[in-house]
Amino acid sequence: MAIQLQKSKEFYEHIKDVIPGGVTSNIRYSLLGSHPLYFEKAQGSKAYDIDGNEFIDCIVSMGAIILGHGDNDISIAVRKALESGLTCGLEAAIAFRVAKKITQMVPAAEQVRFANSGMEAIIHALIIARGVTGKQKLVKVLGHYHGSYDYVDCSFRPPKELWGLMPMPIPATPGLTKDLLDKTLVIPWNDLAALERILVRHGGEIAAVIMEPVNHNIGCALPEPGYLDGVRELTRRHDVLLIFDEIITGFRCSPGGAQTFFGVEPDLTTFGKGVANGFPIAVVCGKKEIMECVSPTTLGGYISFAGTFNGHAICLAAAEATLAKLETGKIQESFAENTKRLEKGIRESAEKRGVAARLQGFGGQFQVYFVREKVIDYRSAFPTNKDMYAKFQRAMFEGGILWSTGPYFHHGITAAHSAEDIGRMLDVADHALNALA
Ligand code: PMP
Repeated sequence: MAIQLQKSKEFYEHIKDVIPGGVTSNIRYSLLGSHPLYFEKAQGSKAYDIDGNEFIDCIVSMGAIILGHGDNDISIAVRKALESGLTCGLEAAIAFRVAKKITQMVPAAEQVRFANSGMEAIIHALIIARGVTGKQKLVKVLGHYHGSYDYVDCSFRPPKELWGLMPMPIPATPGLTKDLLDKTLVIPWNDLAALERILVRHGGEIAAVIMEPVNHNIGCALPEPGYLDGVRELTRRHDVLLIFDEIITGFRCSPGGAQTFFGVEPDLTTFGKGVANGFPIAVVCGKKEIMECVSPTTLGGYISFAGTFNGHAICLAAAEATLAKLETGKIQESFAENTKRLEKGIRESAEKRGVAARLQGFGGQFQVYFVREKVIDYRSAFPTNKDMYAKFQRAMFEGGILWSTGPYFHHGITAAHSAEDIGRMLDVADHALNALA
């Protein structure tokens, strides 16, 4: 049945005077590009909009839904937690259990604190890094995203003519502090020589290097073999902290995160999104000697880490139930298998139809690029054919697959996406590629 969008369109006209753009987070506008889509329910791998369309969801709440929508075990845990009457502001014993579980799953997580969103966790991690080292500057990577925080909201997807300004940061939005220009240095991904140059020149002023261990904020670019080891070695040599932002990779490829998968231990890590299958909670964790500095018992003053909603009992209940399902590694195995199946399916369709398209994925997060060469960073993702991508997106959407209009977006699957769902995604994609040919 053809997709109908009349109700969403009318709803948008109705609410856009009250909610700017008709959305509470800007990225949601980009699902269609012409107006937002409004939903009334979601279950398992499916989402249902107010026009009654059923979609296989490949947005998966930007990675926050990892088990599937409305997972029953999570709902039971949350209902039980609600009965206790505890929410926030009073320390709940469950915080200890979830923190302990994270320390068991993630070797570099010796101590843990909770925040409410990925961006908050990033802010805390960066304040800790500056507080502990006494240094002010940060290094971030072109094409990586860490939330709308002044010092890292830069050089996300800058136009090509500005790439040459690196290591100068390009602010991603008006309204950021100008201080950003002094405090943040930008390097390309998968380029150890560029990192080394920065560290040799500015190492004495740099508190931390922050990066996604897999660059999902351009879709999916993996670290080249040896890259993360090299980053670890260089940051250690120059006495600079290494922060892995695992807010997307967190628990999708391994119960120990991408850091365990690649065998590289950062000093600090942030987790978010999938930790509680859609409930708002995020994690800052790391080496004891660093994390200990936020303890109010620290002699000589501690680094601030505060928040009314931190360690929220309801979200912790969701996290505990989610981690119980993720700790065995079975779900991650199915993500790896399904990612391979998607890669192979798209490769075969693209070859058959004579279209230069490739799906790159990791841990059930992926993107289809219209390029011939492997994408290894934002610069190699940039030439993806935007026209072809737009037509592909439209065909996926018309075929009932929730697919983003963003050519650098990271799509995903959950544990609830069945073999049949994956088959349907590949069938629709094959049709789309055929139409493009
Ligand atoms: N880090 C990464 C890697 C992210 O992808 C995001 C969100 N897309 C964030 C940080 C910010 O997280 P949140 O949206 O929960 O604030």
